[in-house]
Amino acid sequence: MPNLSKRITSLNDGGSDGWEVFYRARRMVAEGIAVTELTIGEHDIGTDPAILDAMYEAARGGQTGYAIVPGRPDLRKTVAQRVQDRTGVPTSADNILITPGGQSALFSAHMAACDPGDTALFVDPYYATYPGTIRAAGAIPRAIQTHSRDAFLPDPAAIDTTGAKSLLINSPNNPTGTVYPPATLHALAKLCQTDDLWLISDEVYDTQVWQGEHLSPRALPGMADRTIVIGSMSKSHAMTGSRIGWIVAPAPMIDTLIDLATATTYGVPGYIQTAALFALTQGAALEADIAQPFQRRRDLVLQVLARQNTVTAIPSQGAMYLMLDIRATGLTGEAFANALLDTHRIAVMPGESFGHSAAGHLRLALTVEDNRLVAAVETLCAFAEQVRQAA
Ligand code: PMP
Repeated sequence: MPNLSKRITSLNDGGSDGWEVFYRARRMVAEGIAVTELTIGEHDIGTDPAILDAMYEAARGGQTGYAIVPGRPDLRKTVAQRVQDRTGVPTSADNILITPGGQSALFSAHMAACDPGDTALFVDPYYATYPGTIRAAGAIPRAIQTHSRDAFLPDPAAIDTTGAKSLLINSPNNPTGTVYPPATLHALAKLCQTDDLWLISDEVYDTQVWQGEHLSPRALPGMADRTIVIGSMSKSHAMTGSRIGWIVAPAPMIDTLIDLATATTYGVPGYIQTAALFALTQGAALEADIAQPFQRRRDLVLQVLARQNTVTAIPSQGAMYLMLDIRATGLTGEAFANALLDTHRIAVMPGESFGHSAAGHLRLALTVEDNRLVAAVETLCAFAEQVRQAA
């Protein structure tokens, strides 16, 4: 076989550790072992049957051919209106590209912002695909380290922007659940203006905010022309498998991204777009119903944690995760997660799988039913206490 390209073989260079726990848990489940899986960000409910009906009817009605590449005009318009209503920033269909999920939007955003060899900044801990996505776009990922004591928020004054063309942020955050406060967003926006960076704002969890408010940095003064927003139906409407999301960007950038979509994805299936349009016009109650269990479960977990003092939660305000500090046990996140899986059949993600900053931490996905989650966290805490005492 001829050599594989350097680009493809180096996608995961310097990648994060700790995914072994996840794969081991999956293997155990496949072997019939009951494991409580608090690993990935997948709802424990499926897509709403009414959305599926809309999808089915659209497919049966003939929407099975090529769909228009940038997305259906009515869907682009609906997304634009949604963005405008939520942020106050004038937004039209020309600012929207419909994409096969937020993941494709992240790749496209970096393709449009960075030339090969440019540096693309992102904040550690991070959603696991970020470095690979940046490399796939030909850019060089550079992580901005953060600290547990600051709830893993970046310090804008400490960011080195040398050689950088873009800065990727994510609020509400995966893996930490943090919602960036306005002061941080204002300072990051200022940095992007001073150092002429694109700000790529991953807002796929924007319907899951439990405290404070989600502020899109595109709404900050002077930012609409240098912000690329990543949106998705995956989390807001429990449509992870439908692969539909969008990019909000200045119209000239969207024009170039339509060329990229033509050369790569060739758009999103028409029946999926119809289902998305249906879902978006169901109103906020559906979105609140989908988000609410995560808030409830976060509060339940915090109640369990309040009864002990070995494991502490990173203050979080949104998303479907909670990050726990287990450094008092003396174990790495990876060692702890492996031992927890072996001893108690509970699978959590080691902080190390999201970068260096979250070493000695665990991420819980709040994606199992309440009682099971509470029991798992009680066991986790008791186990942490045992490990600490044995140390
Ligand atoms: N960004 C973040 C922070 C995520 O957690 C995810 C999915 N887990 C995505 C983007 C991509 O989501 P999708 O492609 O399903 O829209």
